[in-house]
Amino acid sequence: MISVRIVGINEFISSLAKITFTMRFNLVHVVSFSILLVFLSSCKTGKDVYSWEYEVLYPTESDDFYYDDEEDYMPPVKENFQSSATRHWDLLHTRLDIGFDMEMEYVLGEAELTLTPYFYSQNEVVLDAKGMDLHGIMVNDKEAFFNYDGQQVTILLEEEVSRGENITIVVEYTAKPSELEMNTASDAIEDDRGLYFINAQGEDPNKPTQIWTQGEPESNSVWFPTIDKPNERCTQEVFVTVDNRFVTLSNGLLVNSKENGDGTRTDYWKQDLPHAPYLFMLSIGDYAVVKDTWRDIDVHYFVEHEYEDNARGIFKNTPEMLSFFSDVLRYDFPWDKYHQVAVRDFVSGAMENTSAVIFGDFVQQTAREQLDGDFEDIVSHELFHHWFGDLVTCESWANIPLNESFATYGEVMWREHKYGADDADFKRLDDRLSYFDEAQSKQVDLIRYDHDLPGDMFDRHSYEKGGAILHMLRAEVGDEAFYTALNKYLVDNAYSDVEIHELRMAFEDVTGRDFMPFFNQWFFASGHPIVEYSISHTYDDYGEPVTDLTFTQYASAEDTLLYNLSIPYAIYSEASGEYEMSTFFLEDYMDWVFLNGHNDILIDPRGELLVEWDQYTGYNASHIPMYMNQMTNAPWAYARFKAFNKLYFNIYDDDSLNMFYAVGLKDAFHKNRLNVLESMNESVGYAVEFDADPSNLFSSEVLALVQGLATSDSNYAVQAEALKVLVAVDANAHRDFFTKALSSPSIAVTAEAMMAMADIDLDKALPYAEKEQNTTNYTMLDAVGTIYAQSRDAKYQDYFENYVNGENGEYQTYYAMYYYSKLLAGLDRDAVMRGLDFFEYYLNNASGEYVSNVALSGMDRVAAGLNERQAEGELIEWMPEVDARIAAISNAYFGFEDVEEAE
Ligand SMILES: [Zn+2]
Repeated sequence: MISVRIVGINEFISSLAKITFTMRFNLVHVVSFSILLVFLSSCKTGKDVYSWEYEVLYPTESDDFYYDDEEDYMPPVKENFQSSATRHWDLLHTRLDIGFDMEMEYVLGEAELTLTPYFYSQNEVVLDAKGMDLHGIMVNDKEAFFNYDGQQVTILLEEEVSRGENITIVVEYTAKPSELEMNTASDAIEDDRGLYFINAQGEDPNKPTQIWTQGEPESNSVWFPTIDKPNERCTQEVFVTVDNRFVTLSNGLLVNSKENGDGTRTDYWKQDLPHAPYLFMLSIGDYAVVKDTWRDIDVHYFVEHEYEDNARGIFKNTPEMLSFFSDVLRYDFPWDKYHQVAVRDFVSGAMENTSAVIFGDFVQQTAREQLDGDFEDIVSHELFHHWFGDLVTCESWANIPLNESFATYGEVMWREHKYGADDADFKRLDDRLSYFDEAQSKQVDLIRYDHDLPGDMFDRHSYEKGGAILHMLRAEVGDEAFYTALNKYLVDNAYSDVEIHELRMAFEDVTGRDFMPFFNQWFFASGHPIVEYSISHTYDDYGEPVTDLTFTQYASAEDTLLYNLSIPYAIYSEASGEYEMSTFFLEDYMDWVFLNGHNDILIDPRGELLVEWDQYTGYNASHIPMYMNQMTNAPWAYARFKAFNKLYFNIYDDDSLNMFYAVGLKDAFHKNRLNVLESMNESVGYAVEFDADPSNLFSSEVLALVQGLATSDSNYAVQAEALKVLVAVDANAHRDFFTKALSSPSIAVTAEAMMAMADIDLDKALPYAEKEQNTTNYTMLDAVGTIYAQSRDAKYQDYFENYVNGENGEYQTYYAMYYYSKLLAGLDRDAVMRGLDFFEYYLNNASGEYVSNVALSGMDRVAAGLNERQAEGELIEWMPEVDARIAAISNAYFGFEDVEEAE
């Protein structure tokens, strides 16, 4: 937006209206401005002009017009300002008595709330209660009048209640979450029905019956009446009555369980420490409960029975994390217990309900699956919330980065502690990339009061950008000051709600330094700096060698500020053979420094700044020694990663590339070895694309290194990627490697080996596929399907059809149907017709939204595969029969007339 000030207009206007004003307007508004002048000149009296002008110029629609009375501007209207909720009442305690109607999917509840006026005397209470039937409300044991609009209930009090007095409200209600249609879903949370019945009537044989809740941001008021705001908090008791076969989980401690003699049981959960209503939770299902402890606190894992053996692995390192976070924050885990549960069809990834965290069922992995990757980041994220989010809670959703940025940074802290700084640096790289990706289409203030819905705040800004900012804050003040300030923030604000300035003040109090500039540029502004730098080796006036290091700063968006940046950089010392750290303070658009000698320099070698770097340089062979030195000698894996990428993306001759590969494949950090192998596979891909022979790409030294990694790298992803290089280069020559890898403990490695074997010797690969064919792991299913589809053997029809009919998840079924259609495309008439019958049966009988997609696209794939065979010269005489059958099935499904028959 370009703003222009018209000078001299005041005199013109004041002669008409006896008032003055100036206008700032957008160039596109020149036309409307001219119309305005015409209109003004036609007005008869000043009074008319004034009233007309007031109405038109008052800037409700657009902030392009500013009304100026003499000197002062009228402020633009800030739309959508999302204040924190006003505290009329302080909710002290909530006692719930909950049962269920599984047939109707209703919650049958009684809620008893204890409240006291926050400060001012009150004569009514407004509670959030979404989509309920309210059967009656008592205030202090007397029936009360209330108005209910389906979202909130206003309860009239007989007498005004003053500060210091408590009232008790009892609400009898039926909640109907499954009947609710709301639309405040966000990136983080897909739905907002508050409480979910999963397979409540038990009709789906492939799904357990479960009930679970998701409160954040303001959905718990669907299943109990409350003041559903993050700046409220109370203690709680939950009495929940369930069928005896289920276990229950809620916040706080399980006080007792009582058999009711009718096949049901009532569990009594109690939490004496106050927390926000969005953190209340319930989870009900048939679970194996695996019990751990940390210090004197119970730590339980709730998983489906088949995962019982690996429950500790699924919620990996929980006790150790409890110790680490308690110690580093110098603030012990503040809650009664720490339980974690995996639920079906969860609407988010996981949720930090106080002392009872819910995860999506995707976390349920076998120990073998975990060799190829796990969900430990989510475990640490939710646990860290128990300090940042649950103990100290954002007072409004505008301040959600106080919850989510910390939880995201908690993942980094745990990795740094457990797996080292290099591992944490790469996690932060992923986080930055995730934010930069969002920043391409969205750059907003991190703390923003003008969001539309609470859900809009749960974005890559609040998580990853905020996490990156916390890391910069830590780098800025040092570890000791950082953790001292966090401790002060927790101690000062325990069991209360906060806004961002409370974090700032903690840092100011601890360090004695003003943090308004830092918070202003990072928390209250949008965008990020883009910094271009150049490293030039030149000579000064005396002929001495100097390195000219120049930085130029650009804005990522039009309204992005000029940043003050402390840029860390490292200079290589020939004498010591080490890199030495320095800091460059960039506070202007452009600045530079001359350093003695021709230096090898690493800018931001650990990736600590949230900066988009842009190195200005013409790459050529003269840069090779510097980057090779960095790949060899830089002590930071991230710096070595950047050095390899600079070489790989800028220098293309095979000899040089082989030199880079040879160094990179020996890197001590597994993600760097993986990065080199992925680059090599990319090179193979390019070669194949341009009909070049990939077997000439790599030197014998490099191939020997890859062979070594394929058999014995400590990381299985590296082994699998190395195998992929070997098969791409020359599958036959590497047959021994695949044969050995077929018995790898890692699924990724075994699957890669099976597919490689199938390429050169299908008959040898088939028995391995048969051995693994009942897997539910996607990677393995992918390999089995790929191999069977290549077999062109009708006997595998039974396998796919049985798999689809079996008790497998939706995604597994999707895989099976995908490969079944690939298999069919290679078979004869009878087999294809039988397959189409199966698609038809499946389309009409299976349940789930994905079914029609899977079956219809499967039939398309069969037709496409058969057409391909014809294009390759095979005559398929029965093709018209296939086309007609597919048309008939889909027409019947969509309810069309059968076109073929009508003709
Ligand atoms: Zn979170």
